[in-house]
Amino acid sequence: MEQALQHVLQEKFQKDLKEATKEEMYTALLFVTKDKMKHMKQKEGDRKLYYISAEFLIGKLLSNNLINLGLFDEAKEVLAKYGFDLTEVEEVEAEPSLGNGGLGRLAACFLDSIATLGLAGDGVGLNYHDGLFLQKFADHKQREEKNPWITEESWLTRTDRHFEVPFQDFTLTSTMYDIDVPGYGKDTCNKLHLFDLDTVDESIIHDGIQFDKRDIPKNLTLFLYPDDSDEAGQLLRIYQQYFMVSNAAQLILKEAEERGVNLYHLHEHVCIQINDTHPTMVIPELIRLLTTQKGFNMDTAIDVVRKTCAYTNHTILSEALEKWPVSYLEKVVPHLLPIIRELDARVRRDFHDEKVYIIDEMDRVHMAHIDIHYGYAVNGVAALHTEILKESELKPFYDIYPEKFNNKTNGITFRRWLVHCNHELADYLKELIGKDFVENADSLEKLLAFRDDDAVLERLREIKKDAKLELKKYLKETQDVDIDENAIFDIQIKRLHEYKRQQMNALYAIYKYKEIKKGHLPKRPVTMIFGAKAAPAYTIAKDIIHLILCLQELINHDPEVSPYLRIVMVENYNVTKAEKLIPACDISEQISLASKEASGTGNMKFMLNGAVTLGTEDGANVEIHELVGDDNIYIFGEKSETVIDLYDKAAYNSRAIYESDPEIEELVDFIISKQMILIGDPVNLGRLYKEIVSKDWFMTLLDLKDYILTKERMLEDYEDEKAWAKKMLVNIAKAGYFSSDRTIAEYNQDIWHL
Ligand SMILES: *Cc1c(COP(=O)(O)O)cnc(C)c1O
Repeated sequence: MEQALQHVLQEKFQKDLKEATKEEMYTALLFVTKDKMKHMKQKEGDRKLYYISAEFLIGKLLSNNLINLGLFDEAKEVLAKYGFDLTEVEEVEAEPSLGNGGLGRLAACFLDSIATLGLAGDGVGLNYHDGLFLQKFADHKQREEKNPWITEESWLTRTDRHFEVPFQDFTLTSTMYDIDVPGYGKDTCNKLHLFDLDTVDESIIHDGIQFDKRDIPKNLTLFLYPDDSDEAGQLLRIYQQYFMVSNAAQLILKEAEERGVNLYHLHEHVCIQINDTHPTMVIPELIRLLTTQKGFNMDTAIDVVRKTCAYTNHTILSEALEKWPVSYLEKVVPHLLPIIRELDARVRRDFHDEKVYIIDEMDRVHMAHIDIHYGYAVNGVAALHTEILKESELKPFYDIYPEKFNNKTNGITFRRWLVHCNHELADYLKELIGKDFVENADSLEKLLAFRDDDAVLERLREIKKDAKLELKKYLKETQDVDIDENAIFDIQIKRLHEYKRQQMNALYAIYKYKEIKKGHLPKRPVTMIFGAKAAPAYTIAKDIIHLILCLQELINHDPEVSPYLRIVMVENYNVTKAEKLIPACDISEQISLASKEASGTGNMKFMLNGAVTLGTEDGANVEIHELVGDDNIYIFGEKSETVIDLYDKAAYNSRAIYESDPEIEELVDFIISKQMILIGDPVNLGRLYKEIVSKDWFMTLLDLKDYILTKERMLEDYEDEKAWAKKMLVNIAKAGYFSSDRTIAEYNQDIWHL
């Protein structure tokens, strides 16, 4: 390693190890690591998986690649010898901006686990130049800026694969870039294939993230999820999706032919996982290619494709289930419509229930319906979510195809979310129970033997304290805020969405502020940390950010309150920030309205790092609850059955709650109080206030009181330090189930059969 680094530094910068800058050292490490992976064999198998996803939220790669390649300790030592700190050198790396939230992070964890389990499986997606926007705060509001992350030297490798992708008005030529995906302790590598266009032009972006949405050759891979609040934006998304899947389909057929596969047996050698509905058009596209270029008849093409594709559902929020107007598809990909119409005609011939048609009476194409009819497996992402799909959201489909439905509870890779992000904890666990847990997550349960060992409990608290100090330092350096490491760190970090209910947590902050003003001082200070991006066109989500930022201003500058309560909203929440925040957390906020969070994976990361969950019976929280038991989690709020029933009967009335409960009324009114209007924008605060009082679609007020009471109980319980440390220990010990290695082993056993 030392020699290899020395060699690159000499060749590229004519420098010695001693003289290199951090940037040069980073580049040298990048080169050495990439070179090592270049010489590793691609994992091959008789049946190969293609995991197609609009997002891969992979995070920085240097440390994780070094860990998986078994080079981390050596690199760290060599660097230390020359006065470098690997963590500081890693700061140089730009985080790839290829994802938005949980769905994209899941895809990234899956790639790690697929490689680690030694399975033949590649990811396929798009190489967004600016990815999701960069979030800045100004005037207590979110501002969006472009986020160019691709530097001259990066983990991307340009390949000589190109495909022609036909659209209505023109044909575009793609270029494929690859990122290597090494498994932990494996001598083979998988790939993440990212398609791009050479004509994309970042200079067309102006005024934040504005650009001409109609100039497709220049804008196609600029942004992930460009604003689709107008027709041009929706058309652009269709262009992106088709570009992604046409490339994927052509790559899959090409590689199959290169392997000598008879395409009539494609399904025996290839399997395609469709991650949410964004890649759905791969189904008609494959059928199109097989029928127009490979001599298949329609029946056979449909049959082969159906046996090749499987679909993962990620949400029951109906607004998130994609439905494209036929007229839009006509404008972008007219050559797919005859196939989509044929797929719909076959459904109509076989089933007489409008709810399962592909094209509805408003001439919209239901993408998920294509996946379910023309794929061989449909999975939900947590036990409760899959049950809700079967019992309500997708019931008409479950009645037709019960055998297709299955559950795959999400997971996270322990290499990133423990070994990499929390060295101190990982090292201590290795010392206590051996290093087996890195690959064999269930062995974390060995930790349970120490649940009454005072020295172990004490050490876990020390490790948490150290992580809090680290975070304190980081927040001082990056955002110039001061936090108190002796405070309880209460953290809610996730995309901003009303169903995730950051607004409920903000109402708690108002409650606490008022209590402190009344002289009811907490035994120990509380630091509430938020991190969240709001979709640029999601008005209420942006209003919630405004509320939190105004509360941050009010509370942190009130000398009576700030010694006891602080709010920190972290700017531009992403994987890098998550890695700093999660190890330092005491209270993990998982407070979505029951039935709405399909799984959540943030909840798993926190648990693994010894935080205690404050949550509703939603998504994977239900499974966390079952694993750790009542004593080691704080559950509140209405259950999913009650919530679903309220929706069915349209029986929820937030105004009635607001008007009948003076305590709730007082908290909600504070949003538009004189103090708040002095700091914030009356338009934003007023709109949010009105939304909560008169609509509150995600039932904040329904659970607010139970939430406040439960959180107060949690703060009390924290004072019994030994009992709390025991909760930490049990959470870590029981987190093994949430390793993505387990999830991937199940996908392989039940769906992929690689
Ligand atoms: C894990 C993760 C998420 C998902 O968080 P949830 O709480 O499950 O919504 C989102 N963003 C980032 C950066 C993550 O690491």
